[in-house]
Amino acid sequence: IAKKSGEKTLSAAKSPVDIHELGDELMNHPSKSLIVSGTNDVSIQVLVNGINFLLANLGGTLEFERSSLIKGGCDHSFSNLIKEMNEGKVDALIMHNVNPAYDYAEADKFVSGLKKTGLTVSLSSKNDETAKLANYVCPDNHYLESWNDAEPYNNLYSITQPTIHNIFDTRQAQESLMAWVGIEGDFRDFIKKHWEDNLFGKQSEYLLFTDFWNNSVQKGVFEVAAEVTECPVFDFEYFDREGTKFTKVKAGGDIELVLYESIAIGPGIMANNPWLQELPDPMSKAVWDNYVAVSPRFAKDKGWEQEDMVKVNGSIELPILIQPGQPYGTVSIALGYGRTDCGKVGDGIGKNVFSLGEIAPTGLRNNYNLSVTIEKTGETYPLATTQTHHDMKGREIVKETTIAEYAMNNSAGNENHKILMDKDDTMYPDYEFPGAHWGLAIDFNQCTGCNACVVGCQAENNIAVIGKEEVKNRRIMHWLRIDRYFSTETDEINSPVVSENPDVFHQPVMCQHCDNAPCENVCPVAATPHTKEGLNAMAYNRCIGTRYCMNNCPYRVRRFNWYRYLDNDKFDYNFNDEISKMVLNPDVVVRERGVVEKCSFCVQRIQEVKLVAKDENRAIHDGEIKPACVQACPTKALTFGDTNMKSSEVNKKFDDARAYGLLEELHTVPSVQYLTKVKNKEAAHKDHGHGHGHDHNHS
Ligand code: SF4
Repeated sequence: IAKKSGEKTLSAAKSPVDIHELGDELMNHPSKSLIVSGTNDVSIQVLVNGINFLLANLGGTLEFERSSLIKGGCDHSFSNLIKEMNEGKVDALIMHNVNPAYDYAEADKFVSGLKKTGLTVSLSSKNDETAKLANYVCPDNHYLESWNDAEPYNNLYSITQPTIHNIFDTRQAQESLMAWVGIEGDFRDFIKKHWEDNLFGKQSEYLLFTDFWNNSVQKGVFEVAAEVTECPVFDFEYFDREGTKFTKVKAGGDIELVLYESIAIGPGIMANNPWLQELPDPMSKAVWDNYVAVSPRFAKDKGWEQEDMVKVNGSIELPILIQPGQPYGTVSIALGYGRTDCGKVGDGIGKNVFSLGEIAPTGLRNNYNLSVTIEKTGETYPLATTQTHHDMKGREIVKETTIAEYAMNNSAGNENHKILMDKDDTMYPDYEFPGAHWGLAIDFNQCTGCNACVVGCQAENNIAVIGKEEVKNRRIMHWLRIDRYFSTETDEINSPVVSENPDVFHQPVMCQHCDNAPCENVCPVAATPHTKEGLNAMAYNRCIGTRYCMNNCPYRVRRFNWYRYLDNDKFDYNFNDEISKMVLNPDVVVRERGVVEKCSFCVQRIQEVKLVAKDENRAIHDGEIKPACVQACPTKALTFGDTNMKSSEVNKKFDDARAYGLLEELHTVPSVQYLTKVKNKEAAHKDHGHGHGHDHNHS
């Protein structure tokens, strides 16, 4: 890119893949791309800035007015602090919201420094690995018991207010600090004063501060118009001056290691949250463990198989997980596991691998470019995954096309839909939906497979956490799952061979609320009827647990309560004590042992909006009803509404030439439609639409 732009170039090692075409594509689309570095390496970050500058992305896709302040921190200061602690130069240390005794690569140095520090105080809501070592622990409120404010982006302010009175005898950390420095009042007063002194003057809408404050508290956010900042110019002399100090792979082993934060539990902060421990990883679909992810070819060359136990750097034992897409010669391991003091759910789950990271001489944390040795121990370790197959078994489950094909034909990739819809051979009578007919559209172009909808659904609908053993028994209770498929490069249908560098497809699958529902007519006690609004309903009190409906559902979306998960010591997660049970939604019944359950399109939310609209003597507005998955989705990939309403958003999606029903050749007439993925690449993988599938055999 630099050469073609006539700018200074850097000599670089030859890339293992040809990136010329990619470079040309980027240059042909100025201001429309974004290069990200994903590392802590300053040289790489500067290089990435230079590329973005040359691609005219600064001020285009990269905004300076609204920079993110979400992850701030200073590795350098922290490593200096540890040095000073070990030199006995620190008289007192107050810690809040940190856990370096667990999550710092050189935790041993922190712990030894702590012993040489005069006074150590932890303001913590948990007696975690670090709090345990402090002289004093001042129990902090939970954030839902606290007042607070934040500035997640420049000039965007928010306020949080308590939703519940303190459950335990705790005091908010900020109020402890205020008391110690002699500031009177509570933290709410403190924030209020700050907003009056610093933010009130930045707006002109309210004359009185009280009005401004009340409105901000009610809305939760206050936004100041972003100041127009001049775009910086890249300093092309930087590398001449500073040299290229790219981090080299640390010597020591023959395998490159990348440490990453899992999407669910992050750096371990959420390790005690059972919903998140049981949330399948978007790529591996594994739950309740961390593991060494390795590419199929590399595993074969090394003689490793799925679930083989290996020793990393001669000390940390973890199982192997074969992961298509992991580059050859590298492995990756999730951080955040192996907690010892986080609580009954997370303690002892997986292994702590923070010590495999490195603190560079500059003080920067380094979780990439690491090298390790890995040896097989001869043991095996069972992993629980929710999807073991990668292919679609020759069915058109996920459909895709390319942007070029789509430009010529807006039903490209979805041609079969019309052919199937034109055939209307059915033995079912036509259903009439005189009022609303609820439907859900899922746009593959927008779904990133992030899983937020899965957790949203679980929280809203009191879905039980069942633990690793039961997941292994294929009994996971999620009403909504994200199926993941990899592309292959073979023409062979049902080929188990996945590409070395596959495309990945994520497909949210929940009850499809079929108008010709195969589950409904096999129930011997009519426990799953069709409503007048097209919902496939469940009457739990009628269900006698024959599971005929589960057998007859082609989408595998019905779940059976093999146990009573409530008040059961075998499932000591969030259904077994009075405090944890506070997460239960009072609008949704907790199901008993022996009944089948499934997605209801959040019927309780539909009902609530209907009652409000009736009370206000008006019709329901389009978009007013949001099932939990729709509300949780950060990319707006899901659209819910009344398909009988001509102008509704969901209807527009259903009418899109990309829309199709899952396994619609079965003529189930689903109320969920998927929108074909349009890929921004020259050609789709030639096989896609062949060999994909999932294994959700909930027996
Ligand atoms: S929340 Fe949205 S983007 Fe994330 S997996 Fe669900 S549908 Fe896809």
